[in-house]
Amino acid sequence: MSRSVLDARAFHDEAAAYRWVESRVWPEGPICPHCGGTDHISPMKGKSTRIGTYKCYQCRKPFTVKIGTIFEASHVPMRLWLQAMFLMCSSKKGISSNQLHRTLGVTLKRLGLCRTASDWRCTPLASRRWAGTVGPSR
Ligand SMILES: [Zn+2]
Repeated sequence: MSRSVLDARAFHDEAAAYRWVESRVWPEGPICPHCGGTDHISPMKGKSTRIGTYKCYQCRKPFTVKIGTIFEASHVPMRLWLQAMFLMCSSKKGISSNQLHRTLGVTLKRLGLCRTASDWRCTPLASRRWAGTVGPSR
């Protein structure tokens, strides 16, 4: 029996979701967004440490893969972000913001993608690029 793409661990496990994003953003390993350092970086493993937090021992600052990305200002779990991105990109005709809300229980506004959910038309990225309307319409 074949597995569904929706069974992917990154869609259900927060640590796996971070690992998936990290492997795309940092294919060669973590890069400190504060000083650009790539050496002397370790994952922080304290009980109260948030998932995906690293410490750079060159500048002594903590960071996650979210810094400098569209995920930075969002408090939505990474696994939910990946589910939303999958739904937005997997349909030829895109997905409406209302359908996304009904399916995932999260609005585009909560994801931090736009000021109001109606600002964003969820069309496939390629279509938006050809139409010259990449990003939220204002
Ligand atoms: Zn640093």
